[in-house]
Amino acid sequence: MTTIPAAESERKNLVGLDRAELEAELAATGLPKFRARQIWHWIYHRGETDFARMTTLAKPVRAELAQRFMVERAEAVRDLASIDGTRKWLLKWPDSQEIECVHIPEEDRGTLCVSSQVGCTLTCRFCHTGTQRLVRNLASAEIVGQVLLARDKLGEWPAPPDGRLISNIVMMGMGEPLYNFDNVAKALKIIMDGEGIAISKRRITLSTAGVVPMMRRCGAELGVNLAVSLHAVTDEIRDRIVPLNKKYPIAELIQACRDYPGVNNARRITFEYVMLKGVNDSAADARALVRLIRGIPAKVNLIPFNPWPGAPFECPDDAAIKAFGDIVFDAGYAAPVRTPRGRDILAACGQLRSDSQKLTKSERLRREVEAAVLAKEQEAPAA
Ligand code: SAH
Repeated sequence: MTTIPAAESERKNLVGLDRAELEAELAATGLPKFRARQIWHWIYHRGETDFARMTTLAKPVRAELAQRFMVERAEAVRDLASIDGTRKWLLKWPDSQEIECVHIPEEDRGTLCVSSQVGCTLTCRFCHTGTQRLVRNLASAEIVGQVLLARDKLGEWPAPPDGRLISNIVMMGMGEPLYNFDNVAKALKIIMDGEGIAISKRRITLSTAGVVPMMRRCGAELGVNLAVSLHAVTDEIRDRIVPLNKKYPIAELIQACRDYPGVNNARRITFEYVMLKGVNDSAADARALVRLIRGIPAKVNLIPFNPWPGAPFECPDDAAIKAFGDIVFDAGYAAPVRTPRGRDILAACGQLRSDSQKLTKSERLRREVEAAVLAKEQEAPAA
């Protein structure tokens, strides 16, 4: 093996390569296949970033690897902790693009909410991320990198088989994952790999606003749980609040749910329904919802609208949400009301947003308001 010195910028990041690609990279340096397996273990099971500490490799091999490669995460440029234990990290990549990633600890699980794009193209009216123009898709390294960084921050290397701080993944952060399917699929396969991060497909949920043509592939190739951001029961209202509906209207979306590979009573589809006062929260809406999804193994997640500065909606009161939920529940569907988590740090559903964009004057203004709200909420004494 010859040692070719390489400049920092020429070193290739091994994170985000699938196994075959990793083997090919190593083969190019003259290393045998089984080394790929060892390195995979170090990167994804042990969380090691320094080749010098990969002690199952001979010292010259470690040195050679360090010359050519790196194991790189994003940099966390902001780390916010909610009074309810939720954490939110703002991550920055070398090209200065930023995204947010959220950890939500619960009694029986810990969920990491992962982003798939910088910004989002969908412009759902109630979603904060939708006010940010899309800058770009995230690469698989950047999607996997969110999990690696969260495990660094939570000190969970190597992760225990049970009782993990990160036991579940939801692709529910910034972006529309089915508009970045190839990178998301590659990243999720790495995350599911049993010799690495090892989070099973049963503990992974991908949420889509309804990119109908990609839903089948998601089920067939990844087998992860599907969540669908339904939010309205008529095309008229859904067109207005989820503009993607104009492209893929409700009837097509519901058919794609019926056809989702692997759906059954043990693996139900989750319909997300953000409760917007006076828009989609009536008893008639609840009854129509039940008729719409009849026959689909499903549960309904009622999400109280999470406000953000300048949002043109309000959250219904608890009684209205409960009345809606009771109708759905009485029709035989689980209809839990999702407790907002991390609202004080703008980490709840639909509140994520980074500043990766060119700022117009009004956007600059809004950011100032946002910063002020955040500062005020953080000053408030913990309950
Ligand atoms: N683009 C995907 C992934 C985002 S998931 C999707 O639309 O499913 C984020 C979830 O939070 C979606 O169900 C979204 O509709 C919901 N959401 C967005 N803004 C919200 C808000 N302000 N309050 C509550 N939920 C919101």
